[in-house]
Amino acid sequence: MNSDAAAGFDGQGTHNTEVERGILFVISSPSGGGKGTLIRRVLSLDPRLGYSVSWTTRSPRVGEVEGVHYRFVSPDEFASARERGEFLEWAAVHDNYYGTSRTTVTRELSAGRDVILEIDVQGAASIRHANLEAVSVFILPPSFEILRARLTARSSETPDTLSLRLRNSRAEVEHYREFDYVLLNDNVERSAAQLAAIVSAERARRPRQERLARRVLATFPAPTTEAL
Ligand code: 5GP
Repeated sequence: MNSDAAAGFDGQGTHNTEVERGILFVISSPSGGGKGTLIRRVLSLDPRLGYSVSWTTRSPRVGEVEGVHYRFVSPDEFASARERGEFLEWAAVHDNYYGTSRTTVTRELSAGRDVILEIDVQGAASIRHANLEAVSVFILPPSFEILRARLTARSSETPDTLSLRLRNSRAEVEHYREFDYVLLNDNVERSAAQLAAIVSAERARRPRQERLARRVLATFPAPTTEAL
């Protein structure tokens, strides 16, 4: 993982009280922690959840599709997007740059849709330090050995990038303390159900149900003094 100086937050952190804003979910784990699989599972179960496609300077892996997995750009394109304020947050991770599109996230949240950001621990810290409400979830692999086995099995990495990711993994896991929720990813079905339960519980928080509660309350007759 790179230093804090290699990460930034450019959000304005405004709160729109007119529209019922969607909830921003920030999900992090070390590389190989299995968050991609979990998130895909939860997205397929819940049509109200949207996913923000990040920008990256990393090369596409076999099977990765432009605009679906990432927006793949050159370092120059990334730098100019960053300069014009395109990123809500960005970070240098494992020798590449990654950034979250401000336009997409703001549009989705303002339309009342919940959005999942699958970002590294530096990006999660940038979001947390800004004046932006978010629910954060850290996905723990069961152990270092299992993480290593998963990363090796997916054969997407060269020996060098594999070893860089493994070297960075302990420092990433240490950040679990900064998250609202911590989930053990030992079984995809169980962990996906737990993630879906977190999404559901967050939606049911009282401040987010205020409008609904008032609507229901308005159907009740007003209290009369006679009843007192
Ligand atoms: P990968 O190269 O394996 O797809 O991703 C490497 C790391 O970058 C993962 O931890 C992933 O969550 C993180 N990442 C992906 N998109 C973003 C982003 O937009 N911002 C930040 N800060 N990290 C990201």
